[in-house]
Amino acid sequence: MVEAGRLTGLHWWDDDARRHRADAPRFCCRCGAGIEGPAGVVVEYWTAEQRVFHCWCRGCGWAGDVCRAERIVGYEAV
Ligand SMILES: [Zn+2]
Repeated sequence: MVEAGRLTGLHWWDDDARRHRADAPRFCCRCGAGIEGPAGVVVEYWTAEQRVFHCWCRGCGWAGDVCRAERIVGYEAV
């Protein structure tokens, strides 16, 4: 239903919208500045079951994807 130019009532995407607001990165991975609102961009997309947040920071120009990892294997610098 469209009322006064605004969608009202419950929608099938409401749960996704709540999850996005709760889980979206709020800070830049490079410089730590906030990236919410006009300070950056956070867009969510999916690859199969994986949620991916594509982020951009206005402060330092960094752009990249952020996603949850079940396990990470790395090497310690010697
Ligand atoms: Zn940054």
